[in-house]
Amino acid sequence: MGGFGSGHGQSGRDTTSDYRALDVRRLQRDGLLTAGRAFGWTWSRDGEEVASIQMRTEDDRVILNYRSRSNGGEWAPMEYPVYLEWTGCNLGGRRVWFLCPARGCGRRVAILFGGSVFACRHCHKLAYACQRETDDDRAMRRADNIRRRLGWEAGIANPEGYKPNNEPMNG
Ligand SMILES: [Zn+2]
Repeated sequence: MGGFGSGHGQSGRDTTSDYRALDVRRLQRDGLLTAGRAFGWTWSRDGEEVASIQMRTEDDRVILNYRSRSNGGEWAPMEYPVYLEWTGCNLGGRRVWFLCPARGCGRRVAILFGGSVFACRHCHKLAYACQRETDDDRAMRRADNIRRRLGWEAGIANPEGYKPNNEPMNG
């Protein structure tokens, strides 16, 4: 089975393409979102497998199962559900979304990024390469850089660092 990474040609930039992206629309397109399915997915770069994940589906959620390692430490098994939300579209079909599993988030997004934890780009504070940053994004990234300099961990691992914002939820 092909990986999500195949569409991202430009490596070496500090953008979303450096992360493992899980695109719910791709899962839907491939017919994988019916309850009771179990399947694996791999990401590869330059033809080499760099990461893989197991998923199984229930009625309204996908359970992610993979191993994560931080800073060269022990591999730790990770397993948690990501809830799905279905919305109608104009043409009568249904669109599916991930609800970001990061605590305090729950944004409706099409793509989750991992990371040791899969979460939306807002939680990871990512900017798309092909998308011009808004002033808000820049301000937020500056704040992140400042926090990093202060020795705080950025993003979802640090609840104190979580900053709610009013961006549209279609990440
Ligand atoms: Zn999130």
